[in-house]
Amino acid sequence: MKDRIYLDYAASTPVDREVFNAATPYYTDVFYNPSSTHAMGQQASCAVERARKQCAAALGCLPSEIIFTSSGTEAINQALCRTVFSQGKKHVVVSAIEHDSTLECAKILERDGYDVEYVYPTSDGIITPPSLSAVLRRDTALVCVMTVNNQVGTIQPIAELSAISHDCGALFFSDGVQAVNSCDINVNKLGADMFALSGHKFYSTKGAGLLYVKTGVDVHPLVLGGGQEKARRAGTVDVPAVVAMGAAIERAVNYRELYVKHADAVCKKFLDTLEYGRAVSVGAPKAGDIVTVVFDGIDGGRLAVALSYSGVCCSVGSACSAGSATPPQTLVAMGENASCAVRFSFGKPTTEEQAAAAANIVNDVVARMKK
Ligand code: PLP
Repeated sequence: MKDRIYLDYAASTPVDREVFNAATPYYTDVFYNPSSTHAMGQQASCAVERARKQCAAALGCLPSEIIFTSSGTEAINQALCRTVFSQGKKHVVVSAIEHDSTLECAKILERDGYDVEYVYPTSDGIITPPSLSAVLRRDTALVCVMTVNNQVGTIQPIAELSAISHDCGALFFSDGVQAVNSCDINVNKLGADMFALSGHKFYSTKGAGLLYVKTGVDVHPLVLGGGQEKARRAGTVDVPAVVAMGAAIERAVNYRELYVKHADAVCKKFLDTLEYGRAVSVGAPKAGDIVTVVFDGIDGGRLAVALSYSGVCCSVGSACSAGSATPPQTLVAMGENASCAVRFSFGKPTTEEQAAAAANIVNDVVARMKK
């Protein structure tokens, strides 16, 4: 394990030590149910509310606008499936480069009689304002475009896309799951009515996500039961996971400038050392921590397996679809040679030496496979 190089941080990140330390007392000592009205329960509840304030500060919103969920997927499901019907309109626009958690909800909306329309990216992986304008209608209820694409790392022009959606009277949702480390996630600047995050993508634990819902947007619960989260998400809040997420989001905001520089330098080293392949979207606005490389003539799935045997752990598309034979949908939508693509993603622990060493391993493996 030790000498393996992990280049799959877009799939999951390690928990920062400080974040882990902040959360551990809530597993063992302050383990109480935050919904209990007694003094000990209230200790846990205070910790949840502190975390909510930390998340709200990072998003530039009110704490009351945050619903804690169990994952990014759950937050996205709630945004799509539990807000549209109260809009009284039938048209929904979804970008073709969304994560499966959005695309699968879009299929459900279609099944339920909604007119779902997809908006396609440029060959660089960007959803442009004119391409969105072309599909918007007066009866558009909701527009969904992610902030940072999980397969190629492109940063979408969310502020412009949300403005033109609002001009048509539509709600705007953005999946911000891959954005926290690299981008300003102030929801007012982005113009998002709803925004989803996932703790394990920014050095916090798995099992916690959140959905920001702007005051006034009618959101119904996805998970039914008790009245937790102001009756917007039933189920006992995972206190340690939420405490961890609060600490991690604060660190992500404080560390962001350094992170961006670090990720850009590591990515540059990797690509400079690589002798084969074609990195996609490198000319577009892009987070440095995700890069997809197309190795024409080589099957991406076979290459990722061979790389794993040789000590480089990366992925084909997203981790969630890793077991499927379907090529990454973002690359398909971009008109790329999707079946020959491999995603490399970098993190805080990745060094330039590791990036160069990994690229050299890729060079050897690709050279062998070409023979
Ligand atoms: N959205 C994007 C862009 C993602 O990359 C992921 C996970 O890979 C998700 C949503 C799902 O998040 P979670 O793993 O918390 O369910």
